[in-house]
Amino acid sequence: MPEAMRVAVVGGGYAGMAAAVELAARGITVTVFEAARQLGGRARRVEHRGTALDNGLHILIGAYHETLRLIRLVNPAHQSALLRSPLEWNIHGEFHFSAPRLPAPLHLLGGLLRASGLSFAERIAAARFLAAQRLNGFTLERDISVERLLEQHGQSEKLCRVLWRPLCVAALNTPPAVASAQVFLNVLRESLNAARAGSDLILARVDLSALFPEPAAAYVRRNGGEVLTGRRVTAIDPVENGFMVEADGQRQTFSHVICALPPHQVNAFLIGITALSELAAAIERLRYQPIHSVWLQYPESIALPSPMLGFSRGLIHWVFDREKLCGQRGLIGAVISAEGAHQDLAQDELGARAHLELRQRLGRLPAPLWQRVIAEKRATFSCTVGLKRPPQATPLRNFYLAGDYTASDYPATLEAAMRSGIRCAELVAGSRHPRRV
Ligand SMILES: Cc1cc2nc3c(=O)[nH]c(=O)nc-3n(C[C@H](O)[C@H](O)[C@H](O)COP(=O)(O)OP(=O)(O)OC[C@H]3O[C@@H](n4cnc5c(N)ncnc54)[C@H](O)[C@@H]3O)c2cc1C
Repeated sequence: MPEAMRVAVVGGGYAGMAAAVELAARGITVTVFEAARQLGGRARRVEHRGTALDNGLHILIGAYHETLRLIRLVNPAHQSALLRSPLEWNIHGEFHFSAPRLPAPLHLLGGLLRASGLSFAERIAAARFLAAQRLNGFTLERDISVERLLEQHGQSEKLCRVLWRPLCVAALNTPPAVASAQVFLNVLRESLNAARAGSDLILARVDLSALFPEPAAAYVRRNGGEVLTGRRVTAIDPVENGFMVEADGQRQTFSHVICALPPHQVNAFLIGITALSELAAAIERLRYQPIHSVWLQYPESIALPSPMLGFSRGLIHWVFDREKLCGQRGLIGAVISAEGAHQDLAQDELGARAHLELRQRLGRLPAPLWQRVIAEKRATFSCTVGLKRPPQATPLRNFYLAGDYTASDYPATLEAAMRSGIRCAELVAGSRHPRRV
């Protein structure tokens, strides 16, 4: 009986808010506890000098079906909040691929045939690689590294540099030498092997808190739930009738708990519960990869040739023009994914290097008016070969894990986070013996 349930969602990132929306939509009473004042977690708005930045620029793809469905459900302005365009891969001055409006997989074939920056033999090699994966159902008998997979399929140094490596790092946030080829193939299957729309690139035209978590909170409240920000949970203890959740010295009892915390913070709550000790050990073994975002505010006249542009051979991987996305004139966001030598640079130096690289590639560029570097040291887990991720259901009845690190075909992404939250809500709704509180 859903009326008997009272669910605590701990963590108001995309996973927690997806769980809360799904529960509220089913008429199940839910309370979200979020430690920060801002909802969104690793995909959130950061205010700087009166400008709304994001902690990191995010790319969505058309295959993010659940993310897009929930954004549509809760955000009345969803159409203007997203910029959707057919797949385009532009590595400045080196490679340009754009998918024509043809049915899949002809859009890929057509795009590869007319792509600039690769020899004919390289374009055929890329098409052969995709055809071979299609034939194998995008499945490997045994997981290997992305680098090894590309070697096995004779992908040239240039193909790897301008296409496969940036794709692997953008999707898995893990260097190809150690990244899981199976998860990489999952991404290719979802994005490139399904309908053409699956490969569309989607960028937010609003900040990441406004895109989903904030309208999700409004939806939850409208449907009888609570979303509490600035409430750090300090204890979750199994008790006779469910779980006691403590936040800010106040204790409440819930029939179910969905723990939607980042993996490096979840163990503090699992460690004392005997039934969860194996799970805690598996989460403890996860390793992490950083993402650095460099925001450069130039005079308003400065703009990029397109909303998103890739670079190879330098520190910066992608740059985004926020004027073309959010109307913020002269604001450029640069992204450096995964580990590397840039981690040794001080933030000022990193900002200066980013500006220098932009100037080398784009020509004359005045000094930025200000810069802000946001280093997310544990942006995602390291998506390595053969990694086993914990399922959403745990050995402790009515206690679930949501988050991008839980079991999913997707790497640590918004879609993995949202799917995990939805899965937890389904498990709660289907749980057979809800304890009355
Ligand atoms: C810089 C960067 C760039 C990225 N780029 C992309 C991209 O381009 N595309 C993509 O799909 N994904 C991208 N990702 C990954 C994506 O942001 C994450 O996978 C997703 O946001 C994870 O959501 P989550 O809800 O699982 O975890 P989180 O967002 O970490 O949410 C956990 C929440 O729990 C809260 N919390 C922690 N402790 C407590 C406590 N004790 N009590 C209450 N609340 C607590 C935190 O404040 C947080 O809000 C990027 C990530 C980063 C960091």
